[in-house]
Amino acid sequence: MTAAIRLSAVIIFAAVIAGCAESDEPAPRPDYVLDVPAAAETPPVPDADDAADDPAVWVNRANPGASLVIGTNKQRGLEVYDLSGARLSSLDIGRANNVDLRETVLAGAPAIVVAATNRSHEGVDVLRLDPDTAALSPLMDTPIASPFSDEIYGLCLYAEPDGDVFVFANAKSGEIGQWRLSQGAGGGLTAQLVRRLSVPSQPEGCVADDENGALFVGEEAAGIWRFSAAPDGPVDGVLIASTFETDPERGRLRADVEGLALYAPPQAGPQNGFLIASSQGDFTYAVFDRAAPHAWRGTFAIEAADGVDGAQETDGIDVTALALPGYPEGLLVVQDGFNATPSGEAENQNFKYVGWAAIDDALGLSPSLMTLVAQGGAEIPVTDAWLDGLPETAVETETPWTTARSRFTGPAAADVFARAGVDEGLARITAVDGYIVEVDIAEVIALGGVFARTRNGAPLDPDQNGPVWLVYPYDDLSDEDRARAVSGMSPWAIERVEIEDVPPAD
Ligand code: CA
Ligand code: CA
Ligand code: CA
Ligand code: CA
Repeated sequence: MTAAIRLSAVIIFAAVIAGCAESDEPAPRPDYVLDVPAAAETPPVPDADDAADDPAVWVNRANPGASLVIGTNKQRGLEVYDLSGARLSSLDIGRANNVDLRETVLAGAPAIVVAATNRSHEGVDVLRLDPDTAALSPLMDTPIASPFSDEIYGLCLYAEPDGDVFVFANAKSGEIGQWRLSQGAGGGLTAQLVRRLSVPSQPEGCVADDENGALFVGEEAAGIWRFSAAPDGPVDGVLIASTFETDPERGRLRADVEGLALYAPPQAGPQNGFLIASSQGDFTYAVFDRAAPHAWRGTFAIEAADGVDGAQETDGIDVTALALPGYPEGLLVVQDGFNATPSGEAENQNFKYVGWAAIDDALGLSPSLMTLVAQGGAEIPVTDAWLDGLPETAVETETPWTTARSRFTGPAAADVFARAGVDEGLARITAVDGYIVEVDIAEVIALGGVFARTRNGAPLDPDQNGPVWLVYPYDDLSDEDRARAVSGMSPWAIERVEIEDVPPAD
């Protein structure tokens, strides 16, 4: 055998190995992966092979049960589903690859703007989603044309707080473009390319953190980049997470890095929340802190449950932290590369729905703000997500400890005590510094007590009164009640609320 022939044999062998890596077999499952059950699924898309790709969730704030999920079928167009997974509409616009949406105002009326990269015409379709009919219709006379040197690929949207909506789209070459959407004549939109970015090799999934002005882009083989999302921001990115292939020591992702999504809890402030990435090579999902330095918080896999198969080799994902019927802590939607019937027969690809509460439970993501101890000693960890499940109460008042009238929000003490099964008796409240006070539960409820966790829109600072402060509408109380409320009934920096056992009645 000549050297040249031996060399080509080596190349062929290497190609076979590389081919195996792209086969249906996942990389070995790391031992830190935790299982989370699938909750629901959409019907299979109408096309076989690799077809479903990327979802986007729209939350109907006025009627959460009427929220919608859009999914791409990269052989045909877009589909729209309801919260049960049923298909409501579809639009055959071509090889739509990635999709995202934002709410905005057009011609003085609320509008849901949807954008999708489209490989049939090498551009971006900008559409409107009708929240009542689930129909999609064009918002631009002609789609945005790709300016890239290679095939257009991933996409996500960014909304400046009280500002414009921008499209980010990328190409297999690593080029990334940013377009500003502006209102044109007749209520439609126009798009202007305002900035170009790049990553070293093929990107796809991306997501913007609107509140923090950040753009996260997956470089499929290498990891996750963070850029400024501002149209005049610096163009340099920072690699914030790596694939195992590029960093065997610290990599938490297995190439390809695919869909990215941002879990942004509404009450917790812009530093709280999580960035989720589809680690396609080992069929898992990695969770990172939303806040820099974006620490890795855990990894999960989506397992079969109640007739819904698990999700494998996922492309796109989307998540919302808003409460939806059946999903009190929010909803994750993922593409399933290997959809199957309950008996295990392969079907066309689809999308899986997963409750965030199950992810939070499995990974232990929510730190306890305080502990509620029910009678008998059962401990209830009170997390932001737990509090999000209670009605929010607002109190506007002066207090003896703050300089100006403040707006506090949090659950009513009546609702918190109801979760512990009481509306009277004594509660022993312990503060972080060891201060202990005993309060009469019926009196706290009667005076309108609120377990506040925000003041003037910001989470209470743990270095001052936070994370939880029992406050009252002091300004509205009688002099006598106000005197009682301020003396020993308004503990702050609460660590523990313990319902005292009542001796059984004779
Ligand atoms: Ca890809
Ligand atoms: Ca994809
Ligand atoms: Ca599956
Ligand atoms: Ca299935």
